[in-house]
Amino acid sequence: MRSHDYISIEEQYGAHNYHPLDVVIHKGQGIHVWDVEGNKYVDCLSAYSAVNQGHCHPRIIAKLKEQADKITLTSRAFRNDQLPLLCKEVCELTGYEMMLPMNTGAEAVETALKCARKWGYKIKGIPDGKAEIITCENNFAGRTISIVSFSTEDQYKDGYGPFTPGFKTIPYSDSAALETAITPNTAAFLVEPIQGESGIIVPPDGYLKAAFDICKKNNVLFMVDEIQTGLGRTGKLFAYDYENIHPDVVIIGKALAGGCYPVSAVFSGKDVLGVFTPGDHGSTFGGNPLGAAIARESLKVLIEENLIQNSFEMGSYFRDRLRAVTSKHVKEVRGKGLFIGIELFAEAGGARRFCEALMKHGVLCKETHDNVIRFAPALVITKEEIDSVMEQVSPVLQMD
Ligand SMILES: *Cc1c(COP(=O)(O)O)cnc(C)c1O
Repeated sequence: MRSHDYISIEEQYGAHNYHPLDVVIHKGQGIHVWDVEGNKYVDCLSAYSAVNQGHCHPRIIAKLKEQADKITLTSRAFRNDQLPLLCKEVCELTGYEMMLPMNTGAEAVETALKCARKWGYKIKGIPDGKAEIITCENNFAGRTISIVSFSTEDQYKDGYGPFTPGFKTIPYSDSAALETAITPNTAAFLVEPIQGESGIIVPPDGYLKAAFDICKKNNVLFMVDEIQTGLGRTGKLFAYDYENIHPDVVIIGKALAGGCYPVSAVFSGKDVLGVFTPGDHGSTFGGNPLGAAIARESLKVLIEENLIQNSFEMGSYFRDRLRAVTSKHVKEVRGKGLFIGIELFAEAGGARRFCEALMKHGVLCKETHDNVIRFAPALVITKEEIDSVMEQVSPVLQMD
């Protein structure tokens, strides 16, 4: 079968909740993927930063196969010999005391929201049913009904009401608005250190620290969604590391298991995650030994292969090269590490046509919002590979 055959089958039998580029990928290795016709591409999306370690990383795949031959799922009704070590290794790596495993990012965000509310009632003493959680405009935190309840994107909410109450929205990058929004019933502030889906929006230096300090002063949990920014993507282990803060609650997912398996987690101190008692919360697959083994190896790869430093260095090289392109369409190149957005002027006719042109040049990118192209290759990318990507990107940015 050829690409168009797969595409027409998917269009006929699959629900149309995505608008993918018409490239039918068959295999991948490192930063590269191949379509069913055998054409080779550089993947500059990395599954929304879930494959930071690169496609089919040999060490991670070997671990997946090894663990799959032993045991894949026990459920949390019993214990297994991988989850305890994942919890310990995540805590040692991050300096936190406890971890709670889930599968997808949205589930981990839901976990953090539940945790914040319970903490609010049991520890802070908020009256029953009154807990508030503050979130930012243009946030992205997943697709469940409660999560889209605090989305400010009309399409994410359209047709899904009634919504979960208890959320307040403030502008991003505005710590004064946070201070004003906090009441005695505020349990938590949930924030992305860089807003990825809304167009790689980088807040001004000092914003996270200021927001963190305001939360501390008011006994409000500072919760960061590092699902996309975390695990080396921005050139540090976590994007919050740029501001030397220790958030109360950290949410990760995506690259935690190297794109080989859905594994997400919430980590925090015992004073916060300790509010959960047996039966309060759970997931059949959360903490399964296959996912835990893959996540352990994925974290080791990230550290031992120095991918975080590589993201920092290659990210700044890539941005410099992008900024050096003379293009009437480019308004701004921004980002941290290998988390890069190119914002186009409104007159450029939208980012989608550039992504389609890049695809024809063997570079896969996805537009985010209408006028931002995101560049987020796997963190294993080399300088030479960036140079060769630029040979394709420059003419596309210079087209009419
Ligand atoms: C992807 C993402 C999520 C949701 O993760 P899923 O695994 O798709 O549920 C939440 N927050 C951020 C910042 C994300 O990028």
